[in-house]
Amino acid sequence: MKKYLLLLLSFGFWAQAQVKPIISKEAVIRIETELASDQMEGRKIFSEGIERASAFIEKEFKTIGLSYYGDLKNYRQEFLETGRPANNVIGVLKGKSKPEEYVVFSAHFDHLGMTKSGEDKVYNGANDDASGVTAVIALAKYFKELDKNERTIIFVAFTGEEEGGYGSSFFSENINPNQVMALFNIEMIGTESKWKKNSAYITGFEKSDFGTILQKNLKDTNFKFYPDPYPQEHLFYRSDNARLAALGVPAHTISTSKMDSEPNYHKPSDEVSTLDLDNMTEIIKAIALSSQSIINGTDTPSRVTKM
Ligand SMILES: [Zn+2]
Repeated sequence: MKKYLLLLLSFGFWAQAQVKPIISKEAVIRIETELASDQMEGRKIFSEGIERASAFIEKEFKTIGLSYYGDLKNYRQEFLETGRPANNVIGVLKGKSKPEEYVVFSAHFDHLGMTKSGEDKVYNGANDDASGVTAVIALAKYFKELDKNERTIIFVAFTGEEEGGYGSSFFSENINPNQVMALFNIEMIGTESKWKKNSAYITGFEKSDFGTILQKNLKDTNFKFYPDPYPQEHLFYRSDNARLAALGVPAHTISTSKMDSEPNYHKPSDEVSTLDLDNMTEIIKAIALSSQSIINGTDTPSRVTKM
């Protein structure tokens, strides 16, 4: 009997060890490579290529086992933009004790499409922003397996960022901003930051204590998140976080992009081969760790009161 119990206990331990959630480099490479492939034709809004990208993200959300958002019947948040159909892709993990409080992870899945001239015609947008969407999918898998989120987590791939934030506009107009405790927007994390490996920056750092909370959660690790070192670029206002920040949400962008010296930015040469996928995997792990106290409801960042 005793022996049997011990066996059972050790099997239980083994089983638990097997399901410990991880963010694997293999998964990061698989998702990143798919999103940035030539087949996606640069993921321009209203194109067939972005439709393929949407289908891929929807399939990933389904495999992970995310729920639908609000009263949607699938992962697509569809809307008309200048008379043409467009969609965000949204998946949800319902919170255990605070389901009415939301934490959002977002990135944009659209990019610049194709160019007519030159040898390389596809704007692959491997860094901009397939890297961010890869992070959102990897985080969804991680938090689903962790199965401990007290707050509801919403995972969003926005469309139309490159055209002026269509997707994030529609999303922000259709959510109660008071229920959104924080938004982690992830933009271009595929290259090393100006501080090299294991580091990233947070835009609009001084506008809430979001960044300070993230730094606290990374205190005992080898990761460092810094305030945005490119204030002259106004990055806080230039990505999808801005729409929700304007409504008071502590909504910030996490990035590693060296805005003064990123050679492939908005060029067809923004390819997977130019990314540091080891570092990118570590950055995604750091985002997961840094969000912990917000996900479990012990920290709530202050609201953005001044844009
Ligand atoms: Zn971008």
